[in-house]
Amino acid sequence: MVNLLDFDPPALNAFFAARGEKPFRARQTLRWIHGRLADRIEAMTDLARATREALARDAEIRAPSVVSDKTASDGTRKWLLDVGGANAIETVYIPEDDRGTLCISSQAGCALDCAFCSTGKQGFNRNLTVGEIIGQLWHANRELLAAGIAAPWVEHGRHPITNVVMMGMGEPLANYDNVVAAMHLMLDDNAYGLSRRRVTLSTSGLVPAIERLRDDCPVALAVSLHAPTDALRDALVPINRKYPLRELLAACLRYIERAPRDFVTFEYVMLDGVNDSAQQARDLAALVRDVPCKFNLIPFNPFPNTEFATSPRQRILSFQSVLQDAGFVATVRKTRGEDIDAACGQLAGRVQDRTKRRLHRLHVATPS
Ligand code: SAH
Ligand code: SF4
Repeated sequence: MVNLLDFDPPALNAFFAARGEKPFRARQTLRWIHGRLADRIEAMTDLARATREALARDAEIRAPSVVSDKTASDGTRKWLLDVGGANAIETVYIPEDDRGTLCISSQAGCALDCAFCSTGKQGFNRNLTVGEIIGQLWHANRELLAAGIAAPWVEHGRHPITNVVMMGMGEPLANYDNVVAAMHLMLDDNAYGLSRRRVTLSTSGLVPAIERLRDDCPVALAVSLHAPTDALRDALVPINRKYPLRELLAACLRYIERAPRDFVTFEYVMLDGVNDSAQQARDLAALVRDVPCKFNLIPFNPFPNTEFATSPRQRILSFQSVLQDAGFVATVRKTRGEDIDAACGQLAGRVQDRTKRRLHRLHVATPS
């Protein structure tokens, strides 16, 4: 049984071609599954009954199943999704007045082991499939519509989710092929039709993959910088030992050259007494002088047994002022969904043991 959510547009074309179907069948199917968010092949009523019946024998539409679903007091909603083998991933919906943003996971765990990241502390389990990645967007749109979400763009027939950030669990560029295939679905007019400025990929700095992305799918780029020097970044973001700052910033510049009106967002987690001094802010401004960029300062999200603490508010604001005085746009990330642990960087950290037990029970109850 194939899962139709696993197919990007070219793969769906090839699938229908191999079945002796016309190419427009692939386009119709894309519109049903991703445009109209159908969950059953039988629902695709403009396909001939015989075609549907034959298709339903070989194919299905299957997103990861929901383990838990919580909504915070500020409207942030977090789904914990079962991806098999006692692995769970998280997807977070962040409502704002003018947009609905979905934070999507790309891997179960992460191999890159950044010092301040609870996903990294879990180690790496596996890459998510295309269906598991795009299934998060498909699922969130369906759930929000079913809940009767009130947003002006939904009243105009658009999907609830208008923006996607690849900032959940995992390093998206370490799961390159599946992430790019899923992003092609996000951008396809027959699927989600998001503009490439509304899809943001966040990376810890896999330089060769940044180069490839520029050619394959140049969406908005966010880079987790976190330190103004190689010595400090080596300690915080170990992939820096392989791709140091000079190479990373050169790759950012080349990425932007392809799309001159764009900029890179540099993410910078604020760690008390580690990377948050005024001098470090000045060094940072000097470091990225030549790169069209914005800064997003992220208050550190503590998790059990971490050696780090969050910078005091005043220090974050001083750091921001230094960057602003140097001519940069610098924002401080608002903490959302605090009461349900929905913030970046602590995904599936605190809930892990509890969840593992729950997943275990689930699998025992419904052996597959
Ligand atoms: N692997 C990618 C994307 C996922 S992490 C990356 O590293 O960029 C999304 C963002 O959350 C990254 O900027 C990451 O550095 C940051 N982050 C990780 N742990 C965090 C924590 N405990 N508190 C705040 N931000 C964190
Ligand atoms: Fe992986 Fe990103 Fe966490 Fe680093 S910050 S361990 S790259 S998920």
